[in-house]
Amino acid sequence: MTNHAGAPGESSRPHHEPRPIDQHQDHHDTGPRIIARQDHPISRKDVDPDTLRVLYKLKDANYESYLVGGAVRDLLIGRRPKDFDVATDARPRDLRRLFRNSREVGRRFRLVHVFFGPKNVEVATLRSMSEGPGPEDGDLYVEEDNQWGDLESDSFRRDFTINALYYDIRDFAVIDYTGGVQDLQDRLIRCIGDPQVRFREDPVRMLRAIKFAARFGFTFEAETERALRELPGEILKASRFRVTEEIFRILTQANRADGFRMLGSFGFLEVIYPDWLAAVGQEGLAQVEEFFAAVDQAGAEERHFPLELLTAGLFIPLLDTVDVGKDHFHRLASRVTGEIRQLGIKMDLPKRLVNSAQELLRGQLYLLFFAHLPKRVRRYVTAPFFDRVWQLHLLAFGGIEDLKDLQSAWMEARRSLRTPIGGTVDAPDRRDIFSFRGKNGGGRHERPQHGHGGRRRGPGREDARSEEGGDGDNEDWSASQAAAWEGDDQGDQGDLQPPP
Ligand code: ATP
Ligand code: MG
Repeated sequence: MTNHAGAPGESSRPHHEPRPIDQHQDHHDTGPRIIARQDHPISRKDVDPDTLRVLYKLKDANYESYLVGGAVRDLLIGRRPKDFDVATDARPRDLRRLFRNSREVGRRFRLVHVFFGPKNVEVATLRSMSEGPGPEDGDLYVEEDNQWGDLESDSFRRDFTINALYYDIRDFAVIDYTGGVQDLQDRLIRCIGDPQVRFREDPVRMLRAIKFAARFGFTFEAETERALRELPGEILKASRFRVTEEIFRILTQANRADGFRMLGSFGFLEVIYPDWLAAVGQEGLAQVEEFFAAVDQAGAEERHFPLELLTAGLFIPLLDTVDVGKDHFHRLASRVTGEIRQLGIKMDLPKRLVNSAQELLRGQLYLLFFAHLPKRVRRYVTAPFFDRVWQLHLLAFGGIEDLKDLQSAWMEARRSLRTPIGGTVDAPDRRDIFSFRGKNGGGRHERPQHGHGGRRRGPGREDARSEEGGDGDNEDWSASQAAAWEGDDQGDQGDLQPPP
């Protein structure tokens, strides 16, 4: 892999105008396709400086040293990578010696994190084709040396061809064993190897395929697509944790509506969230897709939406049968929040997100029921969570003509506060949905039926705070708080004061 030629300097190019990849490369009959530095758009100035430091330090110590995976893919198509991963033939113990500020980590595989202040660069040793520890083996490492391999074996154990490209820091060439460069040009998601085998081996790859297809607007290569249609049932063999994570990655990225539609049309929603699908029905499914399309559109102006809002969107169809003339707000609110709670548990959603969905949907009902009561309106718009409730309303029901009067009642009151209307966040919501502070690392629901592993709670012990994590930067979505802003249900008399 060391004989590819270097070439003179790189020009500076902005991210959005990638230089095309040279179409006229020599194809090697055997071995990888190598794209020399002058024939691809990747420039070192687009690589995170700390990652470059790691790459050079490895090279200077005579190790192979590559930028790999998503970063190479993204740079080739002119996108800014989310993170930069490094691959090398140095073993973890060599890495620990070479980088004093490093730590060995890895849930599924051994990796080394090299720390630069609060941030780290992930360095992985080139691996063999053998699967090593299964995806569900938790913290168990396979210690044998046969887990390590060379660039070729490392390429072929990756998931998709577009994810198996390497940028060699020695001569700045891109190395492609699997046809990923061509597939990037053809905008194709293609499994490496037999999709039937690769998807069975790790079913989460199916959700990853959908994630990448939606994100880049790519299509599936025929065999990959066929396997996606045939194997949704396999997803139940994957860890629920990884599945939830991938679903939320799809919902937090752009083109979430496409991703969500694919999850539905390939049959994944039916398998992963059967109770939810039964509760919302086909019409509800279409409604949620529309909601995500509205989010995509709003997000096009560089606005981003927090996980709380995206999760609440899944439950919008539960409001379908609301009849403001006949229903009673409190009865209805407790029915809807009860349904969300039941479904949330079955869907394995983090408790924090279930709570916020309950409150945001309860808020929707409040908007519908009390727009004609000026005192309530004036008070409710001052609640700290109002802007999010309002935002969800606009995204879900903004286009409904019959609601225009109701909407202007709320909007006038909100505008009179003369503060900017918030609700969006500055960057895509990349919070790990399970990374809430707390003893059990995560705001999961109690599962009384499982006798093992769970913490025992004494009667009356109130540790919801640690369960919830109590992230300082998130609103408190506790029901009692929100209810305090709702005022007296007996009418609109009395001088309602905001709660302290
Ligand atoms: P993103 O931009 O979402 O981070 P990525 O391609 O970098 O995309 P990661 O999840 O960060 O994706 O994984 C890094 C690389 O590891 C991938 O590009 C791929 O080569 C490999 N990889 C990740 N998950 C799998 C998997 N389940 N099976 C095989 N290879 C995988
Ligand atoms: Mg990545």
